[in-house]
Amino acid sequence: MTAPETLRLAKAHYPVTALGPGTRAGVWVQGCTLHCHGCLSRDTWDADPGREVPVDAVLGWLASLPGPVDGVTISGGEPFQQPAALLALVRGIRAWRDERPRETMPLDILVYSGYVYSRLSRTAEARAILDLCDAVVAGPYVDRLNPPGGPTGRRSLLWRGSANQRIVPLSPLGRRRYAEPAGDETEEAGPRMQVSVEEGPEGRRVYYIGIPRRGDLEHLSTTLDEAGVRAGVVSWRA
Ligand code: SF4
Repeated sequence: MTAPETLRLAKAHYPVTALGPGTRAGVWVQGCTLHCHGCLSRDTWDADPGREVPVDAVLGWLASLPGPVDGVTISGGEPFQQPAALLALVRGIRAWRDERPRETMPLDILVYSGYVYSRLSRTAEARAILDLCDAVVAGPYVDRLNPPGGPTGRRSLLWRGSANQRIVPLSPLGRRRYAEPAGDETEEAGPRMQVSVEEGPEGRRVYYIGIPRRGDLEHLSTTLDEAGVRAGVVSWRA
């Protein structure tokens, strides 16, 4: 199946181990008008048309991954602000999932959105996308509802940035994998952050992938600063 749509893409990365269970592929879209206070991904706000790529190119990248791919996480930016491209992308991932040889665990599709679930589920356009996903993490990021990190910050919100966000399982696979754990959600359930360093046309960039707790990134840049490493332009400050 070919998808004529184009997607404004911020980044695609493999392997991702801090945004959903298992070893995953991550796709971050470019463009978000929600501007949550404290957003850690301000570099994805600008709906830069120069970041458009064919959805088929993203699907081709997924199909070329060496594996295992236990899931695909789509985040941003705001994925639902590109509904036609997002629909084509999740359709293509579903078709690829059905065709490919079975790996260690079934592949799930997890999508992040800054819109609350009740709003997403009201529109037929968004519902058509959700019907093809296994789970959505829905709701804006609210900095004060992200518990502090550091040595005392043991309690974590598994896969969520702030306590107001909801993980909504959307399929039997999603229910098995993303149903809320009873009691405390602890950090032992998975790594909180991973780091990737990439060379690109704008020079070397360091990406923190995952969900830091409140203050983690400021703490990191202070620590680097004290060690004489200048962080330069960072995505979590204006
Ligand atoms: S947290 Fe997500 S939804 Fe909120 S402004 Fe940042 S990219 Fe947009």
